[in-house]
Amino acid sequence: RAKTSGKSRFKVFSKKLHRITHEAQELENDLRKAVERNAFTLFYQPIICSRTEALQGFEALIRWAHPVKGKVPSSHFIPLAEETGLIVPIGQWVIETACRQLKAWRARIPGALNLTMSVNISAQQFVHNDLEQIIENALRATDLPPGCLMVELTEGSVIEKPEVMIVHLNRLRKIGIKIAIDDFGAGYFSLAYLKNFPLDCLKIDKIFVDEINTSHENLQIAKAIIILARNLDLKVVAEGIEDHEQLEIMRGLNCNFIQGYYYSKPLSARDAEDWMQKKKTVCTSKISDRSTIC
Ligand code: C2E
Ligand code: MG
Ligand code: MG
Ligand code: MG
Repeated sequence: RAKTSGKSRFKVFSKKLHRITHEAQELENDLRKAVERNAFTLFYQPIICSRTEALQGFEALIRWAHPVKGKVPSSHFIPLAEETGLIVPIGQWVIETACRQLKAWRARIPGALNLTMSVNISAQQFVHNDLEQIIENALRATDLPPGCLMVELTEGSVIEKPEVMIVHLNRLRKIGIKIAIDDFGAGYFSLAYLKNFPLDCLKIDKIFVDEINTSHENLQIAKAIIILARNLDLKVVAEGIEDHEQLEIMRGLNCNFIQGYYYSKPLSARDAEDWMQKKKTVCTSKISDRSTIC
């Protein structure tokens, strides 16, 4: 009896497994089509100077509107894009689109000349492609100064060959591009890498910002990251700030920049532009002065 129920349980399980793999396969096919048809858009989330509340720049975040399923969260399809290598063409599109958007804003919005644009980059984009060339071409095509572009190394995947990554990052650095570690403290980025990676910025993961007002541990971890960053001459961004209390705590810790729903959710290009027009206080410091201001 136990045997049959075991068997039938296996049947149910394998059916479920089949359904899951089938769904994943379908999503992969859809993702491939989306790449061909250019079915993505970018949203932009403001990054704010914690001291002056001036707008420092935006982080570009990809959105995919699936023809049937509707909005697919990036947490679903980015890992799939990474596994399948589709992140390479997708990532190229992200870089080019974000640069074009910044160029358009620089032409239209007073003060936008000093804005930065952050783009998320997966480790796979370094392995499978000539990322430096893609970025340089995108900058040249849009006539942007390299210092206004920040790449965020997302921590979704283990950095398999740190030595290779460092070579690529040094090349980007040489061009003048800024480099940030995303989701710092929650991913696979080893503290040892802080020694050899050419970095400009750490983004404290939202998990430490959450409950920072009630969790002693979260507060101490955030504090330690900020002190560590300052001693290594890196800037710090707090991600996922949702309320005033979290903001005040981060300000008290001298965290340089704030990003989160408290100021704004990620916005469409058009809404981001309206937001800037309303806000008026775009960052007034020149990019070259950034070490002292904002
Ligand atoms: P991330 O780079 O750490 O981006 C921050 C994520 O937190 C975004 O989710 C953003 O919408 C969300 N967020 C920002 N502020 C708040 C807040 O106050 N509260 C809450 N609950 N959430 C907040 P999103 O857009 O869904 O992106 C998720 C992740 O997907 C990103 O995390 C990044 O790792 C990846 N991703 C997004 N766009 C791209 C892309 O163009 N390329 C690559 N490689 N990865 C991307
Ligand atoms: Mg990011
Ligand atoms: Mg992040
Ligand atoms: Mg994240």
